[in-house]
Amino acid sequence: MAALWDYPDFDEHEGVHFFTDPVTGLQAIIAIHSTHLGPAAGGTRFWHYADKADAVTDALRLSRGMSFKNAMAGLPMGGGKAVVLADGARTKTPEMLAAFGRAIDSLGGKYVTAEDVGMSDADMVAIARATRHVSGLPVGEGHAGGDPGPSTARGVYLGVLAAIKRALGKDSAAGVHVAIQGVGSVGGGLARLLAADGAKLTLADVNGVKAAALAHELGAATAHANEILAIEADVVSPCALGAILDAGAIAALRAPVVAGGANNQLAVPADAARLHGRGVLYAPDYVINAGGIINVALEYLGQGDRAEVARRITLIPERLEQVWAESAATGDPAADVADRMAMRLIGRG
Ligand code: NAD
Repeated sequence: MAALWDYPDFDEHEGVHFFTDPVTGLQAIIAIHSTHLGPAAGGTRFWHYADKADAVTDALRLSRGMSFKNAMAGLPMGGGKAVVLADGARTKTPEMLAAFGRAIDSLGGKYVTAEDVGMSDADMVAIARATRHVSGLPVGEGHAGGDPGPSTARGVYLGVLAAIKRALGKDSAAGVHVAIQGVGSVGGGLARLLAADGAKLTLADVNGVKAAALAHELGAATAHANEILAIEADVVSPCALGAILDAGAIAALRAPVVAGGANNQLAVPADAARLHGRGVLYAPDYVINAGGIINVALEYLGQGDRAEVARRITLIPERLEQVWAESAATGDPAADVADRMAMRLIGRG
């Protein structure tokens, strides 16, 4: 295994912590990329990795992404991420979650966790028995916090409207054709918001039954999950997996706008220039999909209610406008401009 410092994704992490608890079987990594703006906030992923080196890479890559996301969302939070290594059967016990909570607590508030893939709000409740540095807990009506999906969908929706305005000169989504890849929590929420505006929708999901049911409800069309990115539409909105914008997919794009909620949409950094070269208006993923972290960060900070979450989400299109304006002025790809802005905000520019 390469030394930690030699990992391509290390990128001057402030700290990378490894925890083991033989009694409960816990094996966890907590990566803290930056605390420049505040405690490092980012969810915990519970995942089975065939190779433990992949778990380290995942923690580092996701942690850096959270630094950028939180900074661009204007939150007083740094960036971090945790990975709990699952066995093949993905066994997770309350004792293991408690041990993980103690691990988080030992960092004294430098890292604040929330849900990510494989972790539920019930798991956050179990972790909260051992530490207060946790968010994404169930909350009462009107409070910030809880399921981040609807907040993420709302931010993506506002970002799509901003992109439509900039690329197509239209003030609303009425009659605009949006192709959505993945109709889960984020993509499904986005579809409903756009349908209410009278957008023309094409939906795709590997779960074809789910896509068909939502399409029926909203009067939308469906496409095959493998073809959705290449259909002729005004906007393509990736809301499923990451790394879907590779050289082939970018060459096949027929929409002038890519704006969606999926994390890490670019397969490799060079794809930023490929999109730009094709004249596509791209909404950098961690800028447009920050609604969920805004929701859970305000919960943790105890700063405001749902109305404040909604107000802060309206700042997402403004941030996208800044990125696009600088991209237009400099000729640099939007994704690179966003990275540069984020680096400046975390004091590394
Ligand atoms: P989800 O699990 O609710 O939905 C994902 C959907 O995508 C599922 O319906 C799944 O069947 C579908 N899917 C998977 N692979 C697909 C493929 N190849 N083609 C088409 N559909 C496919 O997840 P979510 O919470 O909606 O998250 C979607 C994306 O948004 C992820 O990349 C996630 O990391 C990102 N994201 C989510 C949030 C949030 O608050 N939930 C916040 C920021 C980013």
